Amino acid sequence: MQKIRGIAASGGVAFGPVRFFEPPKRKIAARKAEDREQEFARAEWAREAARQELEELCRVVGREIGGESEKIFQIHAMMLEDDDFREAIRRAILTEGWAAEYAIRRATDQMIAMFAGMEDTYMRARLADVQDIGQRMLRALDPELAEFPELPAGCVAAAPYFTPSQVLRLCGCGVLGFVTREGSRTSHAAILVRMLSVPAVAALGVSYSRLSDGAGVIVDGFTGDVVLNPDEETAREYHACERKPAVGEEAPGQLRTLPSRTRGGRAVKILAKIWRQSDLPLVLESGAEGVGLFRTESLFRNRSAPPPEEEQYQIYLSLARQLGDRPLTVRTTTQDGRLQSFGEEMNPAMGVRGIRFSFENPEVLCTQLRAILRAAADHNVAVTFPMVTSAEELRHARAILQRAMRELRGEGVPFSEKLPVGVMIDTPAAALIADELAREADFFDVGTNGLTQFTLAADRSNPAVSTLYNFHHPAVLELVRRAVFAAKNAGIPSVVCGDAAGDPRMLSYFLGLGVEALSVPPSSVLELRRAIRSME
Ligand code: PEP
Ligand code: MG
Repeated sequence: MQKIRGIAASGGVAFGPVRFFEPPKRKIAARKAEDREQEFARAEWAREAARQELEELCRVVGREIGGESEKIFQIHAMMLEDDDFREAIRRAILTEGWAAEYAIRRATDQMIAMFAGMEDTYMRARLADVQDIGQRMLRALDPELAEFPELPAGCVAAAPYFTPSQVLRLCGCGVLGFVTREGSRTSHAAILVRMLSVPAVAALGVSYSRLSDGAGVIVDGFTGDVVLNPDEETAREYHACERKPAVGEEAPGQLRTLPSRTRGGRAVKILAKIWRQSDLPLVLESGAEGVGLFRTESLFRNRSAPPPEEEQYQIYLSLARQLGDRPLTVRTTTQDGRLQSFGEEMNPAMGVRGIRFSFENPEVLCTQLRAILRAAADHNVAVTFPMVTSAEELRHARAILQRAMRELRGEGVPFSEKLPVGVMIDTPAAALIADELAREADFFDVGTNGLTQFTLAADRSNPAVSTLYNFHHPAVLELVRRAVFAAKNAGIPSVVCGDAAGDPRMLSYFLGLGVEALSVPPSSVLELRRAIRSME
C-alpha cells in the first residue's frame, strides 16, 4: 500500500481499478491543399459543425446537469470563434497551402503550446479546452482523427488531463473517479466533475507514474490522497465515507430502509435534491425520505414561453404522488434566460435571479404558485423562495401566493390552504436577518452553495476563483449556524442543502447545530445515511 497526493479536485471517495485513458493521437499528414479555397471551405464547415454540436451539447447538459454546466460549452463555442485561432487556420490554408486537417491540428497545437507556457494555473488549464475544440473540429471532418475510447464502468480513469467532453463521456460510461497528472481545481473538466459529483484528484505530478493499469486505488477527492493497492483495513475506513452510485452491489439493500439515526438515537432526515422530473426514480431507489429541493429551472429552459400551469401541475402532482407521504419542496424558478428582458448582465450571479426574477415576472410566479398550490391539495408539498434578502421580499412573495389562492378559490379549483412556505437562506443578508425571516416562514432551506458564493465573493461558476469557493470557511459556517439557530428559536425546521450538505465531514457540525434534515443529490443519500448511522 502506498499513498500519493495531488489536489482535491472533486469531493467524495471512489474505489476501483485504474484504467489509463489514452485516446490515440492520430498522425495527421502534412498534406498540401489541392484547392486552397475548397480546403478553407472544409475548415469553415468543420467549425460550423462543431458550433452546432456545442449548441446541442449546451442544451443537453443544461437540461441534464444544470448548475450552469452549459457555460463551459458556451465558452468552447466562443473559443471556436476566437480571431487568433481562426486566423491561424486561415493563414495555414490560404497563405501556406496546407490541407484543412493539418491546418486545424497545427493551429490547435500552437494554442495549446501557448497556454502550456503560461504561469497562471487558471490560464494553463485552458489548454484542455483548446484540445477539446480542436478535436471536435477534426472529428467533424473525419471521426477517426479524434477517437473517444470508452472505459469500463466501475473504474478510476487516469490521464495526464481530461477535456470537458471526455469527462462527460466517461461519466456516461460509469467511471467512478478521476485522477490526473496535470490539472487543477479550476479547469473546466474539474468543475464539470464536481457538478457530476464524481470524486477526482488532480495534479499528481511525478507520482502519477506510480499508477499502474488495473491496480486498485482509493481516490479521496476530499483530501487529494490517492491510496495505491489499499489494504483491507484502509479500505474499510474509507468505505465509511465513500461516495459511489446509490444503487450498486456494494450498497447494502437494507440501508435504503434503515432509519437515518445516529447510534445515540438522533434522527436526521435525508432528503434528495433533484434537477428534473426524471430524477425521481433515483430518489425512490436511494431511499431518500422525500425531495428537499426540486429546482424547477429545467422546466423553464430552452423554450420560448414559460410552461403553462397545467403542464407544471401535472409534473408536481406526478412527483408528489410517487413520493406518497414523503415531502416534496418545490423551489420557485430562479431564472430563465429566454424570459429575461434585462439583456446581458455584467454580474448575473448577483443580478436578476431568484425571487428578483419572479418579481420582474409576477405572472410567471403566480402561474407556478397556482400549479404548486393545486398539487399540494392532497399531497405533502411545500414551496420555497430563493435569494430572499429582506422580510419585505418574503411578504411580497406571500402576497403573490395569496393572489394565486384567491384566483383558485374564485375558480372553484381545489388547492391547499395550508401550503408550507419556506425561505432559502442562500444570501448572507438572509442569514443575518434570519431571526426576522424565521418569524414569517414555515421552514428554512439553508443554501450552502449560495452562502459560500456570496459570503466569499467567489462566483461559483468562475474557475478563476474556485479555490476561494470553500464551504468550510468559518464565515460560511457562522452564517449557517445563525440560520439554524434562528429557525430553532422560532420553532421552525431547517434543512441544509447545497454541496456542504452531502459532505460527510460536515455531518458532525450540522448535527451539533441541531439541523433537522439534509438535502443532497440522490447519489449521496446512502453514503450519508451510512455515515450518520456510524456516528455516536
Ligand atoms: C444553494 O445555494 O445551496 C442551493 C441549493 O442552490 P443551487 O441549487 O442553485 O445550488
Ligand atoms: Mg442556490
